Amino acid sequence: MDTEDIPFARPFVGREEEEAVLRVLRSGWLTTGQEALAFEKEFAAFLETGSPEIGAAEPLSPLNCLAVNSATSGLHLALEACGVGPGDTVLVPSYTFTSTAEVVRYLGAEPVFVDIAPGSPLMDPLALESTLERLFQGRPAYPARNGKGDGFGPRGKPRALIPVHYGGLPCDMKAIMGIAQRYQVKVIEDAAHAFPSRTDAGFAGDLADIGVFSFYATKTITTGEGGMVAVRDKALADRIGIMRLHGIDRTVWNRYTEQKASWYYEVVEPGFKYNMPDILAAIGRVQLGRAWALLEKRRNIAATYDAAFAGDGRFALPPSGTADARHLYPLGLNLETLALSRDTIIEKLQERGIGVSVHFIPLHTMPYYRKRQDLMPGDFPESLKRFQRVISLPIWPGMETAQVERVIAVLKAVTE
Ligand SMILES: *Cc1c(COP(=O)(O)O)cnc(C)c1O
Repeated sequence: MDTEDIPFARPFVGREEEEAVLRVLRSGWLTTGQEALAFEKEFAAFLETGSPEIGAAEPLSPLNCLAVNSATSGLHLALEACGVGPGDTVLVPSYTFTSTAEVVRYLGAEPVFVDIAPGSPLMDPLALESTLERLFQGRPAYPARNGKGDGFGPRGKPRALIPVHYGGLPCDMKAIMGIAQRYQVKVIEDAAHAFPSRTDAGFAGDLADIGVFSFYATKTITTGEGGMVAVRDKALADRIGIMRLHGIDRTVWNRYTEQKASWYYEVVEPGFKYNMPDILAAIGRVQLGRAWALLEKRRNIAATYDAAFAGDGRFALPPSGTADARHLYPLGLNLETLALSRDTIIEKLQERGIGVSVHFIPLHTMPYYRKRQDLMPGDFPESLKRFQRVISLPIWPGMETAQVERVIAVLKAVTE
């Protein structure tokens, strides 16, 4: 074991997931059906009660959960339902994965980047508010670098905000919702990392207008690929449900007649093909039942890392909190105290068989957005600073203690 490579991530799946897939394969129904429906109901029950048992949440929860084939599709559907279109802007953190911003472009709108707060990986509510204020005044999103002129970057009516619960650490949703209400913009939580992050006000992903979860292979629970949209507003949920599957409305017939005709439907929009097949939903139902146990395992790994790196001047512990789903362990490096660069340290870890990653390369430094919005790396200094000194260490639930200890020992050795 001691010489085997330690991957950055490894899904925790077992016999139960295998049996669930076999059950669906043998049933004759592979696409979206009863399993996806059950997964949605159980997921809603979980967000209401902390348990997937549906009985406890009956009568049926007003929380609508819609299974989709990725969080990216879910974010796209959420923005579409909020009416985002050409000429609009949507505010997103610069410190996130490309999904959060690309969905804005799908709709012909423009993402506006907001820096993270000093000492935090989360979007800065103060920066958020000042950017909203500029946009509402019809000014360009970003202030001038030299203080002269009115600034640069996109203009356009802000229609929505997408806070990201980085690593599963919930954003200050009370502050963000307060700002959103003042400016009358919708809030969509990118909760791709944040299942289950339970705050005093409820689960992350159920604290705004719409929340979107990811079941990508490396995420806290997985279906290989997949996602879930959580939304309380019935009209938004209906729109997302229709657009998720070709823009087909099946309720029309029932409106005019008591009879149900299984063959009849009307296409009301050119919708998308974003549904989750039953094969994947069956895996998701098993994973949902494991959610707390998997979190416990990630918490234990994080505690071992914390104990090893605390008080060591070379490292800065990742910010965390009681509601943290612990999707990532993004250890900070105090570069001033180290002889090697962050990139060299990563290279040396990889040479010794330890998989690590970096969350995130800020979006404003990516060629597409840099060119499109005329951005420079220093325009969002907190995102840049955090990116330059962070290494995400492996934190997957199946890690053995010896593996966690080897990561610690190797990292300490290469930074000696
Ligand atoms: C993984 C991720 C997504 C996208 O999830 P998919 O299910 O792969 O589409 C969105 N936002 C963030 C912050 C992510 O890390």
